[in-house]
Formats: sequence, structure tokens, C-alpha cells
Amino acid sequence: MKVGFIGLGNMGAPMARNLAAANIEVAGFDIARACPEAVAPASSAAEAASSRDVVLTMLPDGEALLAVASEIIPAMPPGSLLLDCSTVDIDSALKANEAAKAAGPRFMDAPVSGGVAGAAAGTLTFMAGGSKEDFAEVSPLFGIMGSKAVHCGGAGSGQAAKICNNMILGATMIVTCEAFALADKLGLSRERMFEVVSKSSGYSWSMNAYCPAPSVGPKSPADSDYEPGFAAELMLKDLRLAQQAAESSGADTPVGRLASKIYESFVENEGGAGRDFSAILLKFAKNG
Ligand code: NAD
Repeated sequence: MKVGFIGLGNMGAPMARNLAAANIEVAGFDIARACPEAVAPASSAAEAASSRDVVLTMLPDGEALLAVASEIIPAMPPGSLLLDCSTVDIDSALKANEAAKAAGPRFMDAPVSGGVAGAAAGTLTFMAGGSKEDFAEVSPLFGIMGSKAVHCGGAGSGQAAKICNNMILGATMIVTCEAFALADKLGLSRERMFEVVSKSSGYSWSMNAYCPAPSVGPKSPADSDYEPGFAAELMLKDLRLAQQAAESSGADTPVGRLASKIYESFVENEGGAGRDFSAILLKFAKNG
């Protein structure tokens, strides 16, 4: 399988590197970054996409996806597949799907969970939206870059799964941090709170696997002064996408809406920019 890879940032570069290390022929392009070793540099997105079976994109947002899609779709061979692994709004994923279908190539949205560490280790989770046949066809690529891939349904459903997951993640991280701040006030040690909650009905990934309190639980960004990890800005982006989807579909998501507002204030006015999203503990408990 010949692969084109467009968007070689924090996530895209290690994903492309893993494909190349598995002997897949990869041509790469990024407007600002150099290609990782073993990826053949192309001089444009269109060049990276021409004569490829699959073109992967790993871009910042829906606007970038639509700009790249309009550039590469005319260069993609009929029957090839545009596999967008970025996190974007559902509307942009559907527009990219329509644009591809009208011109010949197929489209699948397959955003990921697992962060930069998961991209480097090849342990990402992919949530895919597209046809069953296309999912089966690109599954070997998911197997190289990740450890789990779920076919969620038709086009756009991968993005739907991603924003639902991250709305839960943002809200549980906030309430976990609130609970640590409350425990501080009540004189309950953070270690004992972790010991109890991580084995009780309040457990969650935020508490058990990514504990926001330094020196408590498994190693996490809290132990490295909240160096991301998963940056607070990216959490805000995903919470906003969830609210955008909730508004356009008429879903009632009051906690998700509040979580979005809390992260907005944290990133824009309270020093959260550039820090891991778990640093929101500092907003509630001054001694982090
Ligand atoms: P990033 O900003 O490091 O990388 C994006 C890359 O796209 C950049 O290198 C940029 O130069 C390139 N780019 C932008 N416009 C382009 C264009 N027109 N043509 C070619 N290249 C272009 O971002 P990232 O952290 O790698 O994230 C990529 C996507 O993955 C985002 O949608 C993000 O929400 C999602 N994501 C990120 C993480 C994470 O922990 N970083 C986790 C899960 C999902």
C-alpha cells in the first residue's frame, strides 16, 4: 500500500514514522515542518497525494482539512481513500466526504485518542466513520499506528465518538480536580483520597490513569509541572466542537457546556495556555 501523509506535526510525524518503519512507502508534506526520516518529502500536498492508495491527513481543524481536501482530491487516483485522522467538526468531515465522493476518491474520518505518547508508541485508538469495506481495507494501517480501531458507523460518526468521549473527559477532569480541592479543605490527604476513589464508584480515567495531583497515583503530567500531555487548548477545542454539535443537533448538554466555559476561562484568562489540561487543578486548589 502506498500512503501519502499530510500534516506532520506533534501527532502526524510519529504516526508517519511508524508507518515507514513497518515498510509502508510514505510520501509526506507539511506547510511548516520537515518530514521525519524514512518519509519521502513531497513538494506539495497534491504531490504527496498523487498515485497513492491512501492519503492520511493529521491537521489542526476543519478549515485546514477542507483547504487540503480541495487541493488533493483532484490529484488522488479514483478509488483511492482520503483518511482524515484530525479532530474536526462533523460538518467539515461531511463536506470533505461529499467533495471526495463527487470526484472519485473515498473518504473516512478516523480521529484518534491516545495523544503524542500513543502516536509515538503506536498505541492510538481510532474511531472510524465510513463504509465497512473501507474500514477493513485500512485496518492494517490502524494496526501499525494503534492498538484499537472501532468502526463507529457512516461518515462523521468517528468525529461524533471523539467529541462525546472528550466531553466526558473534560467534565470528569474538572470534577476530579474540584474533589481534590474539597479534600484539601476537609483535611483529607490526596493520597488517601486517590486510594479510596480509584477503587470506588468515583473512579475514572482522569483519576486512575492521569491523576491531576502531583506525586499521587501513576506518573502523569502533574509530575512534570503539567507539561502537556494533552494541552488545555486542545481540550477547549474538543469541548467547543462538542457544544457546536450539541447545538446543531438539539442535544441537551448542560455539564458539557459548563465544562467548555470553565476551560475557556482557564485557557484565555487564568494561565492555562501551554499547560496540560489536568493543570486545571491549580484553578481550584492553589497548592496544585
Ligand atoms: P500540530 O499543530 O502539531 O500539527 C498539525 C500540522 O498540520 C502542523 O505541523 C501544520 O504545519 C500542519 N498543517 C496545517 N495546515 C496545513 C496545510 N494546509 N497543509 C499541510 N500541513 C498543514 O497538531 P497535532 O497535535 O499534531 O494535532 C493534529 C490533530 O490531532 C488535531 O486535529 C488535534 O486536535 C488532534 N489530536 C491531537 C492530540 C494531541 O495530544 N496532540 C490528541 C488527539 C487528537
